[in-house]
Amino acid sequence: MTGISIHYCSVCGHETQKKVPEGDHRPRDVCDHCQTVHYQNPRVVTGCLPVYQNKILMCKRAIEPRKGYWTLPGGFMELGETMEEGAARETMEEACAHVTIESLYMLFNVVHVGHVSAFFLAKLENPDFAPGEESEEVALFAEDEIPWDQLAFSTIGRTLRHYFEDRQAGLFPMRLEYVTPPEHRD
Ligand code: ZN
Repeated sequence: MTGISIHYCSVCGHETQKKVPEGDHRPRDVCDHCQTVHYQNPRVVTGCLPVYQNKILMCKRAIEPRKGYWTLPGGFMELGETMEEGAARETMEEACAHVTIESLYMLFNVVHVGHVSAFFLAKLENPDFAPGEESEEVALFAEDEIPWDQLAFSTIGRTLRHYFEDRQAGLFPMRLEYVTPPEHRD
């Protein structure tokens, strides 16, 4: 994962050059006109596992990638918010649902797409929810109702499997895991 090439400087509009800036160690898109170095860094995906009376709130995606498949609410973090605020905001946007974020639960390194994905445990405050613009459908699932063969991303299945195992023990330790290319679908 090296990022896309940025051909034109977003500051002054001149063409950029691919080169290793002085004191750096990898090629960047550099503007020789205004000296801006266009760094590209991983993006943070923040989401949650909303629980209401032993059931999990999930969203059926109305957009690509993985349109028509089920996911947990989540998305890219915005500037000016914490990861917890981002997870709650995404839940409001995708499921019109109000959650209280509890603890950090899963952290995934998804190096090949340049993402870090985090899922928090969350409490769904009341059973008021509805599909937001990015969802076809929103529903609560008990463990035996989870649509395992229709999950949008491997991170969703892994997070849910850990949750149901941990729930039996009553302990929810934070886990750091890795997603490798063949497993990740998007
Ligand atoms: Zn420039």
